[in-house]
Amino acid sequence: MSGAINLSDTIEKYLPAELGGFMRLAGEAAAGRKQGFYLVGGVVRDLLLGQTNLDLDLVVEGDAIALGQALAQARQAKITAHPRFNTAKLQWDGWSVDIATARSESYARPGALPDVKPGRIQEDLSRRDFTINAMAVYLSPGRYGELIDLYGGRADLERKLVRVLHDRSFIDDATRIWRGLRYEQRLDFQLEENTLRLLQRDVSMLDTISGDRIRNELELVLKEKLPEKVLRRAEELGVLQRLHPSLKGNRWLSEKLAQARHLSHTSPPSIGIYLALLTYRLSGQELECLISYLRLPKSLSQVLRDTISLKDTLQALADPELKPSQVYQMLHGCSLPAITVNLLACEASTASQHIHLFLDKLRYVKPALTGDSLILMGVAPGPGVKQVLDLLRQARLNGEATAKRDEQAMVSDWLARNRIKVPADKSNVERRHEP
Ligand code: ATP
Repeated sequence: MSGAINLSDTIEKYLPAELGGFMRLAGEAAAGRKQGFYLVGGVVRDLLLGQTNLDLDLVVEGDAIALGQALAQARQAKITAHPRFNTAKLQWDGWSVDIATARSESYARPGALPDVKPGRIQEDLSRRDFTINAMAVYLSPGRYGELIDLYGGRADLERKLVRVLHDRSFIDDATRIWRGLRYEQRLDFQLEENTLRLLQRDVSMLDTISGDRIRNELELVLKEKLPEKVLRRAEELGVLQRLHPSLKGNRWLSEKLAQARHLSHTSPPSIGIYLALLTYRLSGQELECLISYLRLPKSLSQVLRDTISLKDTLQALADPELKPSQVYQMLHGCSLPAITVNLLACEASTASQHIHLFLDKLRYVKPALTGDSLILMGVAPGPGVKQVLDLLRQARLNGEATAKRDEQAMVSDWLARNRIKVPADKSNVERRHEP
């Protein structure tokens, strides 16, 4: 099938002229160095599907950094080179492209990162995950736009199949299991029969992958438009359970993730919200296991922990007799995503009314008096100031103080109760400062 198809019109149709122009220029520059130059991976797949994908992955049969430097000069682009991987990223006027050196790979042991050597495009394509991602397009002047399809990727796109290139693929790199589910669900494809069999055979190979790499895959899943589809399929195939045996990708989760999208002002919702919904049913101890396995960053871990501890408060929050100040007390200090997740998850309508009240109103309530004004009124600097401010906030929350003068009266009362004698020159000072 190699060379039978030319995609130059498709490139023109689905990619901006700036990127098309850049690829032609780069192909000529590489040809001047007697190096083959190609567009590879996901963007080729998406071009054949008639979709725009601006994530250009380019491969050169030669030194990617040296070529990148020459191109950066021609385009006045910023270059970020990674000598360890022999790759370069070019950025200019809001555009960004990645250039890599064509490479061949071998795996010393399952799950390890591969040993890498410079190679030809054929070798570079043979190390890829799925046939639909293992196509390339020539960018050299004489053959610009010609499709290289060594593994039947185009036919698999037509048949809507996700197929590995060989039977050891998941053993070499089990992150491909998660990747396969992502493509299957995103594109509404099927895992090809033998690929599905291999996946089920090799699912335990996921345990050979470091937590960091699994976290990375999970984040990619949660960045999908409909992550619940991937998670549901992952449960069905026993993949999710490799993360933690108590995780479920069930209908409850699907509904909650969809509701999170409706509720979210920043669309899509943060990874924290999705992940906290996924881990909602875990016990505190199970959650800690998962956090340390995935080596989750501190702030994300805090969201998950807050979510679980707030879950334990939901029953108390469902008490219809609660005063607003008690609702405030239970919820303030919790991270916002944790509150949102509990709002989505809670079944009791009173608890959800209380959470709404907190989110819409209570969290913004503040006393009119400040710490400075309390000191001017005679409260000694130190912990007493916070104590009085808390009292004032409580009174505001419960509607017992609605104006500044109510607060001033409360402070005088507090001073009197605490037997603090206010010097004459301070007794009127706050009133004098009033606007
Ligand atoms: P997406 O649309 O999800 O960004 P992509 O195909 O661009 O898809 P990347 O993760 O950016 O995916 O990877 C670029 C290419 O690198 C893939 O198309 C695939 O050919 C190859 N690749 C990425 N990860 C692996 C892997 N674990 N094993 C083999 N090949 C991989």
